[in-house]
Amino acid sequence: MMNGNRKRMGWIALVVVVLALVPAVAGSFTVSLLNDIGIGALVALGLVLLTGVGGATSFGQAAFVGIAAYATAWLTTTQGMSPWVGLLFALLLTGLSALAIGMLTLRLGGHFLPLSTIAWGLSIAMLFGNVDALGRHTGLSNIPALQFAGWSLADPRSMYYLIWVVVGLACLFSHNLLQSRPGRAIRGLRGGATLLASVGADAYRVRLTLFVTAALFAGLAGWLYAHMNRFVSPSPFDVRASIEYLLMAVAGGLGQLAGALVGAALVLVLKNGLQDVLPMLTQRAGQLEAVAFATLFILLLHFARGGLMGLLRRWTRRRAVTQDSSRYEAPAVEPLSHRQLPARGTQVLSVKGAVKRFGGLVAVNDVSFEVNAGEIVGLIGPNGAGKSTMFNLLTCTLPMSAGQVRFLEHDIAGMPQRQVARLGLARTFQHVKLRPHMSLLDNVALGAHSRTRSGVLKAGLRLDRTEEKQILQEAQRQLDRIGLGDRAHELAGSLPLGTQRILEIARALAADPVLLVLDEPAAGLRRKEKMALGDLLRKLREEGVTILIVEHDMDFVMKLVDRLVVMNFGSKLVEGVPSAVRADERVQAAYLGSVV
Ligand code: ADP
Ligand code: MG
Repeated sequence: MMNGNRKRMGWIALVVVVLALVPAVAGSFTVSLLNDIGIGALVALGLVLLTGVGGATSFGQAAFVGIAAYATAWLTTTQGMSPWVGLLFALLLTGLSALAIGMLTLRLGGHFLPLSTIAWGLSIAMLFGNVDALGRHTGLSNIPALQFAGWSLADPRSMYYLIWVVVGLACLFSHNLLQSRPGRAIRGLRGGATLLASVGADAYRVRLTLFVTAALFAGLAGWLYAHMNRFVSPSPFDVRASIEYLLMAVAGGLGQLAGALVGAALVLVLKNGLQDVLPMLTQRAGQLEAVAFATLFILLLHFARGGLMGLLRRWTRRRAVTQDSSRYEAPAVEPLSHRQLPARGTQVLSVKGAVKRFGGLVAVNDVSFEVNAGEIVGLIGPNGAGKSTMFNLLTCTLPMSAGQVRFLEHDIAGMPQRQVARLGLARTFQHVKLRPHMSLLDNVALGAHSRTRSGVLKAGLRLDRTEEKQILQEAQRQLDRIGLGDRAHELAGSLPLGTQRILEIARALAADPVLLVLDEPAAGLRRKEKMALGDLLRKLREEGVTILIVEHDMDFVMKLVDRLVVMNFGSKLVEGVPSAVRADERVQAAYLGSVV
């Protein structure tokens, strides 16, 4: 990784030096173009985070640019305030608008969210053109230039430095953010709300914070835009502009931050070129420009989903961090604090009369059982018996149709899943839920989400470093525990499926759980790996962790557990110690003489 990092630092240094030298050698046209590129890159950077990383597409980002631009324009021209007050006002208004819009729309699923962004994008742009105080379609002019320590930034060359410093800082902020607790949650969004809830995070809140962050980037861009052009009118903030910003992010590569810069440069240079060339060919240059961009969009989606950065990456055959196998090593910090585990033998979980109906099908029918501290309890039964459904009920991943579940001293039936996770109930999934493009270390670190606090601002400003070290140290400790400690920086997607299940256990352990709920953890493991897993689970039991496990491999379960609950056709068949269960005729009948 050191090598890759050094290479990247080299590239960044080169870009910074080139950008710093440009105004000294380039003509004013180039400087203005680069100013536009910087402003576009700022908006696109927000989109890389929101759409590329977070998976939420916005066709309305230009509206946030507009809100900020109009906010500062109105405040500085009609109220005579300083542009710096304008900056605060612009960001406040953009942030609040994003918060309100986000709260209204971010719960929408599927295609409805992107569609809603078009709706509010259109309405906000329309608003600018119809409010008298904002100058209707003529807009607001005579916006003052920025003053900085008695130095005027009226000249595009001085504006250039401000814009690119802001872009640089925004990139740095985003980079820090992605390598942090909130960043991991953002990167986890594409894994679905259930994954995040299982580590105690609220996907809706994570998405909302991300949405506001991206809007604030657009807001910064809007403020810069207003004081650079000294004039605002509605059209640069309409849905067409939003699509252009999205095109920048897609063209550059939604997968990485640099994509925002590359994409903004590509789109704006191309646009300029087209504006020079097209009028020579036709009188309808504007329409042809739209066609050219549409074609570019389609070609990109067909041949370069990863954008220009993705192509570059493929050409240079840099297989990212996959090749790098190493541990997370850093000076030791104080470990994260541990939960007080309940005394051995006290009741940890009790399920009473649990029922789950899927339409006419009763997947779980009046099942009751208990799990006490320091026990390993197995839940077994033939395929389709309702074991996974039972797990989903007791982790509150699915709502119960009837019944009660008590976890420690809480009635948890009907509680949000993330809250149950925060109480100390950690789970793994039968169908693995990992983020394949995140490292093993990051996947496990996600598990410690509920034990830590840092938010977006703290992370972006790098004020979270002690906690971040604590988290990574804990993640490395859990990786060591499952025997994957030397592969911390590999990507989770590169592991065989069986090993991915084990990785989920490490993620669950990073939450410092009271009760660990494992759904078929040994599936897909080789004999030796199964033995290692058995040893790990026994060791956890010694440490006082309580374990509930669904497993198909009878040999494995029988040797491991203290007690068994057998389900068949959704009901509880028998319950008892392994030898008694093995001897029970009803159980043998249920399995039709198979492995039991
Ligand atoms: P097991 O884990 O014991 O193999 P499951 O709990 O996965 O069994 O499934 C129990 C029954 O419930 C099966 O008949 C399955 O088809 C049904 N089932 C599970 N989940 C759903 C769902 N989301 N919708 C409808 N039916 C489901
Ligand atoms: Mg199952």
